[in-house]
Amino acid sequence: MTSRNVLLIFKSSIMYKPRIYRLSKDYDLVFNILEAKILPRREGRILLELQGEEDQIERGLQFLEEGGVVIEYLADKILREEDRCVHCGECTGLCPTAALSVVRPRMEVVFDVNKCVACGMCGLACPYGAMTDIKLFDPFAEGRTAGTNP
Ligand code: SF4
Ligand code: SF4
Repeated sequence: MTSRNVLLIFKSSIMYKPRIYRLSKDYDLVFNILEAKILPRREGRILLELQGEEDQIERGLQFLEEGGVVIEYLADKILREEDRCVHCGECTGLCPTAALSVVRPRMEVVFDVNKCVACGMCGLACPYGAMTDIKLFDPFAEGRTAGTNP
């Protein structure tokens, strides 16, 4: 069992077609809507956490893509530079999804990229520049088009 956070973008031509429920029905995936924004008759955007077996997640996402849904993988938007991290823990209290957490008793800060929603908070908080590849990602920014940042 694993999880994956993705941004799904539904253009106006497909945004009213039922698709998300098929992830559960046909691919045996658990999904959790983290955030969503619908612009009526224009576009829908959903930040979705998917849980299931790796191959089922792949097949479910393939089904969505074949149906015209644009998919962005949030794990692609962030990188921790391990040699810069001193495990100070500054970032862990700000991370909304517990993607950054402290492993006790060895007090190591671990990063689970699959839980990350690329909010950018840790990049602002880290005094050592360890979360360097964050693009202050706003999935719902007006005028933003698929695959770009504003
Ligand atoms: S960008 Fe940083 S703070 Fe935001 S969810 Fe990812 S790891 Fe957590
Ligand atoms: S704030 Fe930076 S240095 Fe401190 S634990 Fe987080 S990533 Fe590592």
